[in-house]
Order: sequence, then structure tokens, then C-alpha cells
Amino acid sequence: MVKDSELRHLRRCVELAVAALETGDEPFGSVLVAADGTALAEDRNRVAGGDHTRHPEFELARWAAAHLTPGQRAGATVYTSGEHCPMCAAAHAWVGLGRIVYIVSSEQLTGWLAEWGVPQGPVRPLPVHEVAPGVAVEGPVPGLVGQVRELHRRRLRS
Ligand SMILES: [Zn+2]
Repeated sequence: MVKDSELRHLRRCVELAVAALETGDEPFGSVLVAADGTALAEDRNRVAGGDHTRHPEFELARWAAAHLTPGQRAGATVYTSGEHCPMCAAAHAWVGLGRIVYIVSSEQLTGWLAEWGVPQGPVRPLPVHEVAPGVAVEGPVPGLVGQVRELHRRRLRS
């Protein structure tokens, strides 16, 4: 269960996704939070320049590898507007990060994009548990799903 105290981190993910959208990028945002609830780092999608590996979850995994001990990484949580893609799930697992809490699942997002006629990307949208079975994952978070869905709709209209 996602606790009320965690919702502020998820709302920050939505703000970061909005910021990404407003700068012409895809609406994804993520926050890395220590075991004591302190936000340590955050990022948003930065693929508009052409490098499609610039996902926030990937950046946070590399930040964690550079700045945190293995124990700190294991106790940390990554909050994110959308479930990690396979690349980011692998990076998360390889650096030994802890729990993931996402607002919308890859299955939800894939379904919406198909419904809106968006062609599939080059990577299968496997759920985190299939890529990184040892990582604890929670989501979707129903109270915020509608907001994130609307950001993706806005992205397609722009
Ligand atoms: Zn990713």
C-alpha cells in the first residue's frame, strides 16, 4: 500500500512530468527517496534531443550508483509517474535500488497509446517484475492515474 506520506513524492513526479511536457519532452518524472523519506534526487524525461535512453529512472539509477552506498541504495525508493521500462528496470536492479512505486503501469500506458493510434516502440513494454523479479513494485496509484493519462494525451495533441 502507498502511504499518504508518500503521495507528495508521487505528486512531485507529476510536476516533473508536466515540466518535461512543457519543454517539448515526453511526460515522465521520477524522484529518488532515501529510507528516511528524504528526497535525494529527481529528474524528468530528456529524450527530445534525440537520445532515447534519457529516461529519469535510468538517470536516477546512475546517480544512486555514484552517490549512495549499497545499503543506502537498497533502502531507497524510486517514485515515478510511469512504470519503469525494461531498460530502466534493469538499471534499477543492477545498481541494487529498493522499492519502485509507479502511478501508471506500462500496461495502462501501452493500452492508451494503442487506443490513440501511436505505433509501438522498439522495446517490449515488459512489466518490472518480469525484468527484475527481486524488486518490490507498487502501483498503479488510482488517485493520480487520470492526471498522468491527461499529460500523455496532451503530448500527442502538441
Ligand atoms: Zn525507461
